[in-house]
Amino acid sequence: MIKTGILYICPTPIGNLEDITLRALRVLQEADLIAAEDTRRTLKLLNHYNIKTPMTSYYEHNKQQKSTYLIEQLKAGKNIALVSDAGTPGISDPGEELVKKALEEGIQVVSLPGPTAITTALVASGLPAGNFFFRGFLPRNAKERRLCLEDLKGLKDTIVLYVAPHRVLDVLEDCRGILGNRKIVLARELTKKYEEFIRGQLSDVITLLSNREIKGEMVLLIEGNSSVQGEENQPWQSMDIKSHILWNMKKGLSKKDAVRVTARERGIPKRQVYAESLDI
Ligand code: SAM
Repeated sequence: MIKTGILYICPTPIGNLEDITLRALRVLQEADLIAAEDTRRTLKLLNHYNIKTPMTSYYEHNKQQKSTYLIEQLKAGKNIALVSDAGTPGISDPGEELVKKALEEGIQVVSLPGPTAITTALVASGLPAGNFFFRGFLPRNAKERRLCLEDLKGLKDTIVLYVAPHRVLDVLEDCRGILGNRKIVLARELTKKYEEFIRGQLSDVITLLSNREIKGEMVLLIEGNSSVQGEENQPWQSMDIKSHILWNMKKGLSKKDAVRVTARERGIPKRQVYAESLDI
């Protein structure tokens, strides 16, 4: 009987090519096949370390049919190293589905520790790192993004987000509007030549970035809500339900969403808030 192969989750550098473990290099060298998000990008890494293992692509738009092929290869006894463009596969990158399918098929999955932008940014941010909440990329749609921030508002843990440079100002403005003028850190171009940590209150960073070109990859870290307990600092506490709904609508929420958020903030049933919204 053929022994099934192993699926290795193989983190790769997020910028500096030296940031790869000896074990990851050995696995890449010894695997029968590398499943790469972008074969051209991974080829640069392989060339740098003189690794000649064959590659096949595995990315967002072929992951369904490609994972079937990769599972067949694993079942046929091939060892596969899964890599993404940068960092750890499965973290805002393809990987999750393949791992799930492999586990369903009883295939061994081995996770190699290695780089990810999350922890690289977090531990140097100066914000509490013991408890954090990673939310990945916020939705592109402004309304969905704001709703998502509403959901994060009460979190006491440090919030970690991925953000594209062309959206960063919009995201920061939304954060200031919804979360308040909190302390943030923008960790840019980690491990690369122009690595930079921009620290300050949201309004300071917005002013700074409004006057300069914003380029590169970045992680946004936001201090948690330290006033969650008791929520005595919330402006809506002095409002009646209707004013509270209107206050949420002024932030750009539709009436329906404002009802939902108001109910959650007050900790009362939605139908009670809905009843108050009928004549708005
Ligand atoms: N799997 C990757 C990881 O483990 O970090 C993340 C992939 S996600 C598609 C890419 C996002 O990660 C970027 O838009 C950026 O937010 C963040 N990122 C990746 N490399 C980075 C770097 N060198 N500096 C700052 N952020 C980075």
